[in-house]
Amino acid sequence: MDIRSQFPILKREVYGKPLVYLDNTATSQTPRRVVDEIERMYFTTKANVHRGVFSISQEATDLQEQARERVRQFINARSTKEIIFTRGTTEAINLVAASYGDLMENGDEIILTVMEHHANIVPWQLLGRHKRIILRVVPIRPDGSLDMEAYRSLINERTRLVSVCHVSNVLGTVNPVKEIIAEAHSRSIPVMIDGAQAVSHMKVDVQDLDADFYAFSSHKMYGPTGVGVLYGRERLLNIMPPYQGGGEMIDHVTFERTTWAELPFKFEAGTPDFVGIAAYQKGIDFIEETTIDRIAAVEHDLLEYTSAKMVEIPGMHIYGSAPGKAAIISFNVEGVHHYDLGMLLDKQGVAVRTGHHCAQPLMHALGIEGCVRASFAVYNTRDEADRFLTALNRALPLLQ
Ligand code: PMP
Repeated sequence: MDIRSQFPILKREVYGKPLVYLDNTATSQTPRRVVDEIERMYFTTKANVHRGVFSISQEATDLQEQARERVRQFINARSTKEIIFTRGTTEAINLVAASYGDLMENGDEIILTVMEHHANIVPWQLLGRHKRIILRVVPIRPDGSLDMEAYRSLINERTRLVSVCHVSNVLGTVNPVKEIIAEAHSRSIPVMIDGAQAVSHMKVDVQDLDADFYAFSSHKMYGPTGVGVLYGRERLLNIMPPYQGGGEMIDHVTFERTTWAELPFKFEAGTPDFVGIAAYQKGIDFIEETTIDRIAAVEHDLLEYTSAKMVEIPGMHIYGSAPGKAAIISFNVEGVHHYDLGMLLDKQGVAVRTGHHCAQPLMHALGIEGCVRASFAVYNTRDEADRFLTALNRALPLLQ
């Protein structure tokens, strides 16, 4: 089936111009089958999960647990006990920071990188409210790749965790996470990977990577909003205290003492977004039917095609040129404010992101306040890339 026709939003117009949606890093669009499943669930199968003996509650529970198995297969986890549903990447990282962080002590160190999204910075800072946790930050090289020598030199006997993004949401850099993990493991240090920008663009196998924690969001992978996943190594999840308390996560409750449910439910307090989780399966279906290889090939072609034309524009500065980078082009044009450019592109129907992209420390390291970001998904086309380039060439003379 044709890819674009599965995404009704791609037919809409903005200011009378066809929408060219290039903010896929922030969220991807949703194929009809996902929304159909949400509607079907609400109209036929809305009953709380893991509670009722009645049929539709069983059906809803089965759908949620099927989705868990689907996610397990998708990232090749060993067991569904290692798949915890969250609200998104942000909540998944907060879970690890609060719960695994609970096991840390004053003076312990965590290694991050300068290219992290705020979601992989602030939760670790919050941990520092209760104890003295030192954050060590790996710098980048001029092409936006990670300085691996600096990484190695930051590991020491106080390092308790390494937490890095798989793919930078600004530079597009694909970090050598397998190497990062092997290095940390040689010193018995666990590694958390923020996979928000990776899972829908490349094959991710958590066993092959040997990751200890891996976080991602459904809404960036053609699924519904409000659903995310934390993969965690069973051995670590077992020693971690619960993150939130409430229904679903208990075994037995008295006012004196409460015991926890088995994994993964120990970390899933309250009613989950079981409708979203069921529909998330359809997003994964879309990725698997389209195939990651095809997604990667289309995105890579658009990245090469568009970047080659952009570098010809006088005053153009693109941030991030690491080999094998993802289809994310962050840029500024000399003398032009990123916000003004974003507005003029929008007037021509082109949706790009402007600002600091939730990566203020990276903006600081790059010596900028913000930039424009165009990012591609599998439904984008060369024709759309041309429309973006035309809009850019029309807007720039008005601003320079
Ligand atoms: N990490 C990275 C690298 C991201 O790009 C994003 C989303 N922009 C997040 C974390 C946060 O994801 P969410 O808002 O879905 O929790």
